[in-house]
Amino acid sequence: MSPLTIALAGNPNAGKTTLFNTLTGARQHVGNYPGVTVEKKAGAYTFATGEEATIIDLPGTYSLTAYSVEEVVARDYLVQEKPDVVINITDASNLERNLYLSTQFLELGVPMVIALNMIDVAQDRGISLDAQRLSGLLKVPVIPIIARSGKGTPELMAAALDLAQKNAPWDPLYISYGEDVDLALQAMAQRINTAGFMTNSYAPRWLALKYLEGDSQIREKGRRADPVVDGELQEIVTKVGEHLLKTMETYPEAIIADHRYGYIKSVLRQEVITHKFDIDRLHASDRIDKVLTNRFMGPLIMLAVLLGLYKFTFTYSQLPVAWFAVFFDWLSGNLSTLLPDGHLKSMLISGVIHGMGGVLGFVPLIMFMFFGIAILEDSGYLARVAFMMDRVFRIFGLHGSSVMAYIVSGGIAGGCAVPGVMAARTLRSPRERLATLLTVSFMNCGAKLPVLALLTATFFSRSQAQLMFLLTLLAWGVALTAAKILRLTVLRGESTPFVMELPPYRFPTFQGLLIHTWERTWQYIKKAGTTILAISILIWAMMTFPGLPHSEEENFARQRQEVTASFTQTTEALHLKEKLAAIDTAQAGSALRHSIAGKIGTTMETVSWLPGFDWRTNIALVGGFAAKEVIVTTLGTAYSLGDTDPKNNASLSETLAKDPHWNPVVALALIVFVMFYAPCFVTVVCISKESGSWKWGLFSICFNTAFAFSLATLVYQGGQLLGLAG
Ligand code: GDP
Ligand code: MG
Repeated sequence: MSPLTIALAGNPNAGKTTLFNTLTGARQHVGNYPGVTVEKKAGAYTFATGEEATIIDLPGTYSLTAYSVEEVVARDYLVQEKPDVVINITDASNLERNLYLSTQFLELGVPMVIALNMIDVAQDRGISLDAQRLSGLLKVPVIPIIARSGKGTPELMAAALDLAQKNAPWDPLYISYGEDVDLALQAMAQRINTAGFMTNSYAPRWLALKYLEGDSQIREKGRRADPVVDGELQEIVTKVGEHLLKTMETYPEAIIADHRYGYIKSVLRQEVITHKFDIDRLHASDRIDKVLTNRFMGPLIMLAVLLGLYKFTFTYSQLPVAWFAVFFDWLSGNLSTLLPDGHLKSMLISGVIHGMGGVLGFVPLIMFMFFGIAILEDSGYLARVAFMMDRVFRIFGLHGSSVMAYIVSGGIAGGCAVPGVMAARTLRSPRERLATLLTVSFMNCGAKLPVLALLTATFFSRSQAQLMFLLTLLAWGVALTAAKILRLTVLRGESTPFVMELPPYRFPTFQGLLIHTWERTWQYIKKAGTTILAISILIWAMMTFPGLPHSEEENFARQRQEVTASFTQTTEALHLKEKLAAIDTAQAGSALRHSIAGKIGTTMETVSWLPGFDWRTNIALVGGFAAKEVIVTTLGTAYSLGDTDPKNNASLSETLAKDPHWNPVVALALIVFVMFYAPCFVTVVCISKESGSWKWGLFSICFNTAFAFSLATLVYQGGQLLGLAG
């Protein structure tokens, strides 16, 4: 016998994942639902009687109407996969609101057990619940549990097994929505029945209800299934809609929601729920909120918490990041002495090891950031942050939760867009999430800082600090404006109403935090790893091939011979070494110019004169796509300066200061270009994976570069006009 499937469904934060972990322990695997980046978690469970079951952790939703990806995923799963039993997890301390989803399951007509979770919290708040009475009224098994400790879960699973084995037909719940709507529903259901319109997937009345609620996914399907019936149904919807607007000044959706809540209220009032304390008494959470979301204190505390998260992520991850660096240095050092010189060695060291370092180097960052976010999320504080920031971010077409991603990406100074892109996961609505994903790379990440530091120190040494501060503000301004532009154009659409309620504060469990952190980190490694490695090798090849022409190579070899021949004295050995090193650097610079990247850099001069960049700068910018840190070193190589240590750019700084091509206007144009052009490819890979399409990765390259190019051109040409370049 194949194992039973049991789906866990409920509101976000009701405790699905906690129950899922309690039930399945280590026997679980995480994937994505096909076509969307919503997590699909499945795990195995063995009943006391020996039966096997597969447990599915469905995404958390507040309703079953297609307002968000999560809702579509959860609903499609229930309708198409038809699990044997659905366990609907509800937060017993907030039952009225949670039952809103339960009634929709009941209307859909799925075999269901209700788990009253967090009865410990309910008890603390003086709420007592009569599970038996509730079960009698809703006609489904209702079992109180504490998912965190596992209390009540054996009873819950026994009830689920019992239900699955009975396999009795399940009548959908019938809620009356008032005469107008009921009549319309009846007419629509009749039409659906006689036409056999999608009846093998959905119950007729439920389908009619979705039409009335304006469910876009269902309408889309309906149009494809039978445009004639679809048209007739739409007609009824329009008629009843107009009628309701005329008579009650309201919409069908609102009437439906009102009646559902009315139904729930009437159920709960029948001695299901009793409050020991005065209901008006402030809960502990509300009292905490008085301080944490206070008009004046709230934002200050939030700023401190976000700064703390930022510090935590970037300070504590430094040590493990350094371990990785030491390990990869050691590895490339060993390989470099073991392998003979040549392309293979160069590829292994500069392509493969560098690429692996690129993947793994971010792991500690991502882990620390997700750990910090998990604490904020599980404790309930993240919802407050979103709540407080929402008013500001809404102006730019974003969501309050976006703030996290910007801060992590370098909103304060130094940071990284890779964990920033990952942090956008806490956003639920797809458009606002995409707008965030695509703009976090405008922040001044830690890798851009050396470039900015070099240029400001060289050309604006007297006002360096002020300028760096202005550049941080500029990054925010540009990121938010770009988000607004995106939301007005390619990502146009209504912003999602702020449905997030403020969940009560809770102490997160350590196990929960670790599982959350590890799952997300592992997804990054798995999804981005191979791609990053491949692109790293590609970039290495671009900067290596086709290499110097034969004649030039001979030229450098001859120079070496001449130099060596002219030095004979042993006392001059040190001098000789210096001279040979200088020839090596010149050769490296020349080779870079002859590489594909160099050719691109030279060709780009046909347009790059507009923002005032010469071919050397262009090569550095091409190299900067690998990682922005590379810009300074590549600039050094292009100017044949040998090893430029990014921390000590004295020689490069002097060279630029003396070079006739360079002046403060060129420097400023380059600064704004570096700040805003294509994100580094690791970020691009992450944007593609997180958005589910390479289209968006490509878009970020083109959009950002075009934007940066215009801005840099404006700066340079403006500076020329004003005569500042002289
Ligand atoms: P999900 O969004 O439905 O997956 O919810 P989670 O499983 O992530 O749980 C949300 C929060 O509730 C976590 O901090 C859990 O530790 C906490 N939680 C879950 N079940 C219980 C419970 O029975 N009692 C208490 N006190 N907390 C719980
Ligand atoms: Mg969860």
